[in-house]
Amino acid sequence: MARYRGSVCRLCRRENLKLFLKGDRCYSDKCAFDRRSYAPGQHGQRRGKFSDYGVQLREKQKVKRIYGLPEKQFRLVFQKADRRKGITGTNLLLLLESRIDNVVYRLGFVNSRTQGRHFVRHNHFLVNGKKVNIPSYLIKPGDVVEIREKSRNIKCIEDSLAAVIRRGIPQWLELEKENYKGTIKSLPVREDISMPIQEQLIVELYSK
Ligand code: SF4
Repeated sequence: MARYRGSVCRLCRRENLKLFLKGDRCYSDKCAFDRRSYAPGQHGQRRGKFSDYGVQLREKQKVKRIYGLPEKQFRLVFQKADRRKGITGTNLLLLLESRIDNVVYRLGFVNSRTQGRHFVRHNHFLVNGKKVNIPSYLIKPGDVVEIREKSRNIKCIEDSLAAVIRRGIPQWLELEKENYKGTIKSLPVREDISMPIQEQLIVELYSK
């Protein structure tokens, strides 16, 4: 299925949660969810009850939208999570969190995961001194992610780094803002993901 190209604020309103898909705007009083926290569309204000399947589907859609993946790619990550030892739902979230497009967002190099994916594809980052242009690349503990020298004065990277304090850096990452680099101190753990996600519902959905 093609990547969604409509208004991303509609997605937050659909999921009844701020998904932080639009960078600085999400923290401002222009946030569409803060202004209209009901589902989009003509009948949006009549949010009905969901069936069990509906609840599971919404949870899956929510996580897919947070990390900006299309269905096919999301399912591949799920299958990978399922093959790993441990709890599948937790594995799924940790795999998503370890992607380089998420890591550059978490480090504050970009202001959304969508922008992260775009910038990774355009070779703006190095991992351990080498170019990485695959957004699904998984980081490892000890990896050093940095902004390429010639990309450091790009306006949106500068703006994003200036605003990083407001978002905060997760404890599994360390940012050296003045050197435009970040270190992966350890792999993320479930407690590092603060969004309200019930990953078990996704496992139930895909296990049908
Ligand atoms: Fe969601 Fe608000 Fe950000 Fe729009 S501005 S993407 S509604 S959090």
